[in-house]
Amino acid sequence: MDTKLVVADFENWREAVAEAVALLEDGEVVALPTETVYGLAADAFNAEAVAKVFEVKERPSFDPLIVHIGHKRDLDCVVDVPEELEEVVEALIEAYWPGPLTLVLPKKPEVPDLVTSGMDTVAVRLSSHEVMRAVAREIPIAAPSANRFGRISPTSAQAVMEELGGKIPMVIDGGACRDGLESTIVAPEMSDKGPVLRLLRPGPIAREDLRKIAKVIRPKRTKADHVEAPGQVESHYAPATPLILIDKPGDFVPEEGVKYGLLSYRGEGNSSLMDATEWAHTEIMSPGKGKLAEGGVRLFYCLRNLDAADVDVIVSESVSETGIGVAIMDRLRRAAAASKK
Ligand code: AMP
Ligand code: MG
Repeated sequence: MDTKLVVADFENWREAVAEAVALLEDGEVVALPTETVYGLAADAFNAEAVAKVFEVKERPSFDPLIVHIGHKRDLDCVVDVPEELEEVVEALIEAYWPGPLTLVLPKKPEVPDLVTSGMDTVAVRLSSHEVMRAVAREIPIAAPSANRFGRISPTSAQAVMEELGGKIPMVIDGGACRDGLESTIVAPEMSDKGPVLRLLRPGPIAREDLRKIAKVIRPKRTKADHVEAPGQVESHYAPATPLILIDKPGDFVPEEGVKYGLLSYRGEGNSSLMDATEWAHTEIMSPGKGKLAEGGVRLFYCLRNLDAADVDVIVSESVSETGIGVAIMDRLRRAAAASKK
């Protein structure tokens, strides 16, 4: 199959959106930009189209998708918000929609089981990217990240082409993703002391921000220490090249004959690994003054470059776990965990 790459610029983005909507109405899948990462979209209420998403991504059916709506008011088409959670849901939506916050709530019966992997809850969000929102206004969309399962999420149309080119009819190029990390996922729940927010996946909206709305609690863990929510599999977000995550520069001892690539946070500096060995390839997450936010935007881009470079092992520095640093470290730990398998 030929994959058509359409750049959604100022002049033609309406046509690009119309073309994507027509394909989606036909039961096809298309890749669309969002502010977090690129998504692989299907009509959320067409189970056959949703099945194509799993097939194209080689994604196991136990990993549920996120439903994208086009307006705040469309939330009621997808979920039944329990009365006791109405206030907290309203506050979250007012504060963070449109934006990189996904809410997990009880699903409407019309949402196909395939979307939710058979669970009675569904993950919903309202993207702030004009292209995704314009498409979702026409047709509610089910969309996971537009990468093959377990691989690095794409933050540019070019990365989507590398992942899925030849497998899908269309990719809309809406530019580089502004946040660069997958959305924060939260399940609002009732506790004895009132509503709480179960943080299922850290992302661009930090725990500190969520705390202003309600108490934030950790995901439940099973005996095997795996997070209970499906999809939170440890080996997500992994480069094909093994990655080791280093806490302090002294912890890294290079081995003879191994070609190492470095993922550095700021480049030069005391806490940096820049001088620890002769690196075959170096990527810097935040070379400017953007600090952690810039690191978030560039993380997957840098990992992709390191994966494409001729190195045996990727060595990553750690970042401080505040704000979006929590999400960056979450992705790096998963990448490191996947490497151990
Ligand atoms: P992706 O868009 O590829 O990052 O994948 C969507 C992720 O959302 C899944 O991997 C799950 O972690 C999460 N998710 C989707 N639906 C639910 C749900 N009903 N309950 C908990 N987590 C969910
Ligand atoms: Mg994904």
